[in-house]
Amino acid sequence: MNNALRILLGKDLVVLDGDGTLYIGSRPLPGAREFIRFLDEHGKRYVIMTNNSSFSKEHHIKRLRRILGRFFSYDEVFISTEAAIEYLYDTGVRRVYALGTPEFIHDLVSSGIHHDPERPEIVVIAFDKTLTYGKLVRAVRHIMAGTPYIVVNPDILCPTDRGYIPDTGSIWALIRTATGKDPMAVTGKPSSLFLNYMLRKLSVRPSDAVIIGDRLYTDIAMANENGVTSILVLTGETKIEDLVNSRYRPTFVVNTLIDLLK
Ligand SMILES: [Mg+2]
Repeated sequence: MNNALRILLGKDLVVLDGDGTLYIGSRPLPGAREFIRFLDEHGKRYVIMTNNSSFSKEHHIKRLRRILGRFFSYDEVFISTEAAIEYLYDTGVRRVYALGTPEFIHDLVSSGIHHDPERPEIVVIAFDKTLTYGKLVRAVRHIMAGTPYIVVNPDILCPTDRGYIPDTGSIWALIRTATGKDPMAVTGKPSSLFLNYMLRKLSVRPSDAVIIGDRLYTDIAMANENGVTSILVLTGETKIEDLVNSRYRPTFVVNTLIDLLK
């Protein structure tokens, strides 16, 4: 058994990233199904933690079942949207204007946040695959008039079946360029807010978890900043040469999840 796997088996919780780690688009990555089966066979507790705020939680669960062939419960899947909702509640905000998909807005509204395009207390920037110029104009006008904004996840690109597509981070770049203003918070990975929200729900300490992900500036950054052991997989955005100049240091690096089982 390799060192990374031995350390992993000694932890209480395995936190798995989605896009680029377990799947790309609707296809499981090599070793993803085998790895999940291995964790189940060893009675290992694990969750999926994803920054992809374009799908509702319900949709994520359906996709995971289709892609990985296993049913995940509500407590086994965490999306950046939940961290954003937690943040809004903590700051007492109830009225927002969101750049988000109808599924994202559904999750906001069903948790008691009002979607108010006219008089928001905060503008929320999410992974809006239904973005229009009119929505951008509205968001920019609110922010320039003094309404603060938050960013649900900082990812610049999202891998899909047909290549990379612009993610929330790219929309954020446009908003920042237009307004010259920075957000009040970025709530998805690498934010400690998201990690703490999840670990609190699961009653797990950071030192008892291990994070597996494909991104240095989200998955590994969050692990580093919170004292969590991490495993970088090279099936997504990061190439081995990116490690040389990176300020983020994964505890272990493997090419694919298959290598972790060797
Ligand atoms: Mg990823």
